[in-house]
Amino acid sequence: MIKNTVEATHPLTITRIPAFSDNYLWLLDNGQSAIAVDPGDAQVIIAELEAKQLQLDYILTTHHHADHIGGVTELQSRYNAKVIGPDSDYIPQVTQTVSDGEQINLLGLSIDVISVPGHTLDHIAYFIASPNPLLFCGDTLFAGGCGRLFEGTPAQMRHSLGKLRELPAKTLVHCAHEYTQANLAFALAVEPNNSDLIQRIATVDSLRKKQQASVPSLLSEELATNPFLRYDNADVVSAAMQRTEQSSLNTDEVFGAIRQWKDTF
Ligand code: ZN
Ligand code: FE
Repeated sequence: MIKNTVEATHPLTITRIPAFSDNYLWLLDNGQSAIAVDPGDAQVIIAELEAKQLQLDYILTTHHHADHIGGVTELQSRYNAKVIGPDSDYIPQVTQTVSDGEQINLLGLSIDVISVPGHTLDHIAYFIASPNPLLFCGDTLFAGGCGRLFEGTPAQMRHSLGKLRELPAKTLVHCAHEYTQANLAFALAVEPNNSDLIQRIATVDSLRKKQQASVPSLLSEELATNPFLRYDNADVVSAAMQRTEQSSLNTDEVFGAIRQWKDTF
C-alpha cells in the first residue's frame, strides 16, 4: 500500500491513505493526536495510527456513503474518538453535528464547515484557512471533475461548487477518489482547445504511469481545467448548448447539461 506524506511543511502532517480500489482517506496528525477524514475503511487507518503511534481523537465525515463512513463505528469505539459530521439520519455515529458557516477548533486548527449539497443532500466540506489553505471536499469537487448527483439537483451542485470556487486559488483540494484521468478525458471532450487542460492531462498521465497520486490538486488548476467549475466559461457554455441543441442556457442549465453528458461519457 502506498502512503504519501503530502504536506510536511504544515504544522500538521497530512497523510493520504489509499483504500478500496480508488478512494483516498486522509489523516491529519501533530505527532500525537490525529484526525481522520472520511474513514471508509478502519483497517488502513488503524495500521497508519499504529505505525506512527498516534491516538485518534477526531473523525470528520463529509457525507453518508459507505466508502466514507464504513470504518467510523469501529474507529469510534476503539479510540473513543469524537465523530463530527452533518446532521444526517444516515450517519447516527456523529456525536457533534456541524452545519454551514460553523467553525470548529481541533488540534489547534480552525476548520470552517461549508454545506455542499448535490452528490448527497447531507454533504459538507471542511476548509482550513491557515497557515495554508486546505479543503477536504469528499465527493463534491474532484480533481478534474465533480461527484455524481445522487440526491441533489444540478442547481444545488452548481451552487455548492460556486462556493468552493470562491476559496483562495492556492487552496489544496483533497478529494476522496483517484478519478482524475477519466475526469480530464471528459474535460477535453468539453474543451478540446483548453491549453491548460492539455498540459494537465500530460502531467497527470505521467504521474499515473509512475503509480503516483494526482491528488491533492490546487484550486487554481481546477479553476483552469475542471469543466464543473467553468459553467460560465464561453467554451463550456457553447459545448453545453451544442450538446443540448439549445440556443440559450443559464448557468445551472449549463452545469446540468455537462453533468448529464459526463454520466454517459
Ligand atoms: Zn459519495
Ligand atoms: Fe466516495
